[in-house]
Amino acid sequence: MANRKLYDISVLLGDESIVYPGDTPYRRTMVQTLESGDDCNLSGITMSAHAGTHLDAPYHFLKNGKTIDQFPVEKFILSARVVPIQNCVAIEPVELENVDVRPGEAVLFKTRNSTEGRIENDVFQENFVYLSAKGADWCVHNGIGLVGIDYLSIERFGSKNFTIHRKILANDIPILEGINLKSVPEGRYTLYCFPLKIKGGDGAPVRAVLTA
Ligand SMILES: [Zn+2]
Repeated sequence: MANRKLYDISVLLGDESIVYPGDTPYRRTMVQTLESGDDCNLSGITMSAHAGTHLDAPYHFLKNGKTIDQFPVEKFILSARVVPIQNCVAIEPVELENVDVRPGEAVLFKTRNSTEGRIENDVFQENFVYLSAKGADWCVHNGIGLVGIDYLSIERFGSKNFTIHRKILANDIPILEGINLKSVPEGRYTLYCFPLKIKGGDGAPVRAVLTA
């Protein structure tokens, strides 16, 4: 890996922690501090399993779906395509038709959510670019191995039935949310995104990295 360019596409938990409305906010509190004479600095964390850069497991929306700990770890190292999206509302198949993807590859959508800095802003924005129903069909029909998006959710804000999550997760395709692709050019990479090994987890935070 010595000569390979490496991109950290994770957001910073803390300053960049957007809270999805209704979700548990990320909070870190010091339990012990060296400054006050304790033996060490020790903090406690409370957060949603879907805070910052994270993976959704099928169990997030499907009663009998796979939980995050049920995926073999090799599932989280995969070839990935970073695909630029110009549409400022939704990811539609018209921008995907000429994308060269192989079955099993990850597709990471680079939208205005990261190019315009929304993912680095700690204020939740309802009008983020989302995956359309036809875009989700495209992912399923092309045998995509993992779908990634540069905002906290892949689904249009205000969706009542969460058809996009269900469609993708029903095919055992994990969803990687909250990635920052601002400095990553379009192209093919290797993606590493290891979730915490949470028993029965509906999702988990990850550190996501691309190598060129
Ligand atoms: Zn999620």
